[in-house]
Amino acid sequence: MASSGQKVVLITGCSSGIGLRIAVLLAKDEKKRYHVIATMRDLKKKDKLVEAAGDVYGKSLMLLPLDVCSDESVKHCINSVKDRHIDILINNAGVGLLGPVESISMEEMKRVFETNFFGVVRMIKEVMPDMKKRRAGHIVVMSSVMGLQGVVFNDVYTASKFAMEGFCESMAVQLLKFNVHLSMIEPGPVHTEFETKMMEDVAKMEYPGADADTVRYFKDVYLPSSKDIFEAMGQTPEDIAKCTKKVIE
Ligand code: NDP
Repeated sequence: MASSGQKVVLITGCSSGIGLRIAVLLAKDEKKRYHVIATMRDLKKKDKLVEAAGDVYGKSLMLLPLDVCSDESVKHCINSVKDRHIDILINNAGVGLLGPVESISMEEMKRVFETNFFGVVRMIKEVMPDMKKRRAGHIVVMSSVMGLQGVVFNDVYTASKFAMEGFCESMAVQLLKFNVHLSMIEPGPVHTEFETKMMEDVAKMEYPGADADTVRYFKDVYLPSSKDIFEAMGQTPEDIAKCTKKVIE
């Protein structure tokens, strides 16, 4: 349980990458300012987080299951928090999707929106009433540079982040009247499992419906140059965690 003066921070998508690093950094805060509720959709994936947290696990860092795509899971998670009282919500969970649009099923595209857009909407809807009532709170959303600029072969991912940016810009104005702050973080490439998962999906891709030129451009030009960009510019998840900590301080 949070001790008095500590802020309760709930973070989505803490099984790996940026979410995991934010959870650990905040839970190990030298001034002990945060009580972290790290969430993940599959608690069987908790080992990496537990190991990185070390002796703060079970103290300033607790774990709860949460699938941002499920209304029931979101409600259950928020109801498990004492008095539903969350000071800082960090919407980090997200999925990527890469490839020619003709080769991607509508189901896959909807999954991206369900996670990256409606997942955030669901979380904000659930925590907002209490924050407004208490006239305090901070909501942070992990967007992307692709929430600001379209990037070839990332069409649906880009669209999901643009949608989220639009929703959040509009919400930020409404929430400010209640002293609730909303911030967006827009990282460029970050070395996490995000990239690995997308590349695994791409390796299985069969390109139904896409013309030969597009497939050639995707495989021979886009993928190698995207790998180079990641190598040259990629930040670490720790970098983004530090930036997030600055934003909430
Ligand atoms: P990871 O793949 O390492 O982490 C994504 C996290 O989201 C995982 O914990 C994953 O859980 C979780 N997640 C996915 N779907 C759901 C769901 N339905 N409910 C709850 N959790 C879910 O990637 P990153 O750490 O890189 O990504 C974190 C955020 O940063 C994302 O929003 C991404 O869009 C954004 N971002 C990433 C960039 C990058 O280059 N890596 C660049 C810019 C932004 P599980 O293990 O169960 O899949």
